[in-house]
This record gives sequence, C-alpha cells and structure tokens, in this order.
Amino acid sequence: MNDNKNFSFEFSAPKTTAGVDQLKRAHGRLSKLAPDFFSVTYGAGGSTKEGTVQTVLDLNDSGSEVAPHLSFGGSAPEKIVDLLNMYKENGINRIVALRGDVPSGMGSLGVLRYANELVELIRSSTGDHFHIEVAAYPEIHPESPNVESELKYFKIKVDAGADSAITQYFYNADAYFHFVDRCSTHGINIPIVPGIMPIVNYTNLARFSDNCGAEIPQWIRKQMESYHNDKKSVQQFGEEVVTRLCEKLLEGGAPGLHFYTLNQALPSIRIWKNLNLDAK
Ligand code: FAD
Repeated sequence: MNDNKNFSFEFSAPKTTAGVDQLKRAHGRLSKLAPDFFSVTYGAGGSTKEGTVQTVLDLNDSGSEVAPHLSFGGSAPEKIVDLLNMYKENGINRIVALRGDVPSGMGSLGVLRYANELVELIRSSTGDHFHIEVAAYPEIHPESPNVESELKYFKIKVDAGADSAITQYFYNADAYFHFVDRCSTHGINIPIVPGIMPIVNYTNLARFSDNCGAEIPQWIRKQMESYHNDKKSVQQFGEEVVTRLCEKLLEGGAPGLHFYTLNQALPSIRIWKNLNLDAK
C-alpha cells in the first residue's frame, strides 16, 4: 500500500533533558518503520531554536533523513540564512517553512510576515538545495476570512517555490479531498500530504483544536466525552477513528501521511500496523 507514498513523523522540539530522552526513545522505535523523514518543530517565536537545531543534528547523525521546521521567530533574514547554510553544510536537504505561531504578547514577527516570504528567502539564498514543505489547511486557517483568500495565499506560497505541503490535522476526509480539488482548479498541483494527529489525550486535543481551527466532529466529541477518564477506551476509539481516516485518505489517493507524534511512538505505530504499512 505504501509504494510511491511518502510517510513521515513529526517530533516536537524538546525543552528538558527528560524530553530529549523521550524523543530519542520514540525515534528509535519509529526508525524501524523506515519513514521517508522525521521533522522537528520550531517553537512559537523561535522559542525552541537551540532544541530544534540540536535535535535535528542528532537525528541527522543517527542516519535519519530529517526536516527542520523553520519560521522567522522575529529573526533578521541574515540569521535565517546562517541557519539554512549550517543545515546545508550538515547535509540536510529538506525544510518545513512556516510563518510560525505568533507568541502571545508579541504583536508581530519582524521583517518577514508571511510564509511565502520565507520560501522566497530560502530559494534566493540557497537555490534548489532544499526540498521545501509548506503548511496547508483543508479546514481553512483561522485567520483566513474565506476559502478564496486561503487558496489565493496558498498559491502564492506554492509559486514562491514550495515542493510539497503538509496539512493541519483534521478528522473529516471529505474536507481534505475537497481542498485538494479546489487547489487543483486553482492551478496548485504539488503533493498535499495529510497531517495525522493520533488521539491519545482527548482533553488536550480538544483545547488545542479550538486554538488551531481543526474541527473535531460532533460524533467523535460526544463519544470521547462519554468515556470521561477511561483512558483505555479513549485510546481504542481514537485508534479506530484515525485508522479509518488514514485508510480513506490513502485509498482516495492521498500522496502519503505525516504523523504528529507529540514524541510518542506507540499511537502512530499502532495505526501504522492497522494499515498494514510495511517498513519501506
Ligand atoms: P502563512 O502561509 O503565512 O499563512 C498565515 C495566514 O496568513 C493565513 O490565513 C494566510 O491565508 C494568510 N496569508 C498568507 N500569506 C499572505 C499574504 N502574503 N498576505 C496576506 N495574508 C496572507 N508553528 C510553529 O510555531 N512551529 C512549528 O514548528 C509549526 N509546525 C507546523 C507544521 C505544520 C505541518 C502545520 C500545518 C503547522 C505548523 N505550525 C507551526 C503552525 C503554523 O505556524 C501556524 O498555523 C501559523 O499560524 C501559520 O503558518 P503558515 O506557514 O501556514 O502561514
């Protein structure tokens, strides 16, 4: 099933020594699945810059293909170019380019304002060296006034030089297929890989989803709420729902899957096994 499809796992940059150890354990387990790459987040406003860089270099040294997330975080363009050159010198050839979340209390992100400007900066400073991934939003970015605006700016970002996109997570496969169709009618033809968030802790997920504009369908919300503190039922139901979602996406032609692991290997591994995806 995974021939010609692209599979990747995302780690959150760790902030503590215990976090570093947890990420290493998760990486050890997920490496056995031989994904195309691992990505490492860049905290809002560049808050995890050191943790991101160190994690990226460690994973790279271990022989994994790794894609650092990069956002402006208020940095001057020259600082971003320095970071890009350091990655390039270390043999890293894939970047996830983002505007980044604006940390609370920070009004703006500095010289660069939108992700398309970062994509332009990467292309103008490092040519075609990096495969550039950008973010996509099948359920529309919370700041977008309407779907036309979403598609207009997504196209500008893609035309600036993005090679492929990874979506915000969602639990409604139709939202993804509809978005891909709309992209195609707008002349956007890069691969758009669904971002998959396994459901582990429902309370945290519900809070996070409200912030980032990802919808949890009512039927999933109600079922999850009925489990109260029964973690095992939450995990079993979540696994079933997300496995079915992934099946639909792959059967419907999605070019791969990108798992938001939150540095936990098992939830993604269980879904991977349910999908009968062999190591590549
Ligand atoms: P943009 O593409 O710049 O879009 C942001 C908003 O501005 C959209 O509403 C868009 O329509 C609008 N817009 C875009 N261009 C223009 C323009 N030229 N003029 C006017 N309006 C415009 N955040 C982090 O902080 N760190 C991470 O590591 C991280 N990883 C992520 C990984 C993935 C796969 C995804 C989907 C998101 C990730 N995020 C991360 C969250 C992301 O930074 C936020 O969603 C952020 O609010 C938008 O980033 P973007 O790159 O999509 O921004």
